[in-house]
Amino acid sequence: MLLWSSDLQGLSLLCLFFCSRMGLLLKILVPFVGLVLAFCFYSKENFKPEMLKGKRVIITGASTGIGEQMAYHLARMGAHVLITARTEAKLQKVVTRCLELGAASAHYMNGSMEDMALAEDVVKEAKQLWGGLDMLILNHIGYTYFNYFDGDVEYIRKLLEINFLSYVAMTVSALPMLKESGGSILVVSSTAGKIGIPFVAPYSATKFALDGFFSSLRQELIIENINVSITLCILGYIATETAEKTVSHVMQKPGAPKEECALEIIKSGALRKRELYYPYTIVRIALLIRDWAPEFLDSLARNSLNVENVKKS
Ligand code: NAP
Repeated sequence: MLLWSSDLQGLSLLCLFFCSRMGLLLKILVPFVGLVLAFCFYSKENFKPEMLKGKRVIITGASTGIGEQMAYHLARMGAHVLITARTEAKLQKVVTRCLELGAASAHYMNGSMEDMALAEDVVKEAKQLWGGLDMLILNHIGYTYFNYFDGDVEYIRKLLEINFLSYVAMTVSALPMLKESGGSILVVSSTAGKIGIPFVAPYSATKFALDGFFSSLRQELIIENINVSITLCILGYIATETAEKTVSHVMQKPGAPKEECALEIIKSGALRKRELYYPYTIVRIALLIRDWAPEFLDSLARNSLNVENVKKS
């Protein structure tokens, strides 16, 4: 009892001490937090669609999905667009729509990005058309299955060529023009390029490769004072036709809208951000948990999928 009352006394003294210091603490803390918030708010450049007016932009994989939506946003903003994919008929339709929406100019080149020569030719075409380049958006991907890894090494080699090597080849060809314009490179990646998600082993490998290459290259550009930004876009589940066809039976929630996703990618590139997380909260929280409790995140990733719907092929 004696001990208990002395404990209480100690606690009250501690409370009194904190209360007397609280005023002082608040006097320092409130202006400090205010200053930090004001700095964050005012130092952050806001996005304006005019930033893209007249800019010369290559968008790969723009016949469907997020790439197609990026082409439309850029067209509305008055940019010049050169889009790529394999299916010519779809590209023609996207080009026509871009011109209707107000693109300064719209062109396409079709072919498979398995062929590094195509990757280089697309950049050459931009030089011929516009004499320079302001933004390179690397977005295409090859066929991706959502299932247990089947052991096909040749498929991984092919996917690495399409999803990774062609990105590197286009960057190498485009860098001289981007250096001249102080331009930007946008690399569309995925949470599967930061976190181990089951059933996408080959795809995940290609997206992790993008992070390694472009994060290292970004550092070198900064060291050499080269004014070319690299934005890595980490996307969660987006409701494109391909993604819905491939994973909707396994996902417990619907995908985020592709139109908004496309706009966020363009904004992040225009603002020269290091990385974009979309949808922000879910992707950001997952990445925070990854560093502190990886096993917990692994179990969350497994439990967020209807694994029973994945049939071994
Ligand atoms: P999508 O609709 O399937 O678009 C893929 C594009 O790439 C199409 O234009 C396709 O056109 C083209 N393509 C396919 N194979 C090609 C090849 N061999 N050579 C050249 N082009 C080729 O995909 P999306 O869902 O919009 O995804 C776009 C990007 O977002 C990808 O980088 C993807 O990894 C990323 N992402 C998507 C999600 C999602 O849930 N949707 C999530 C995370 C990350 P053709 O078939 O005519 O060639």
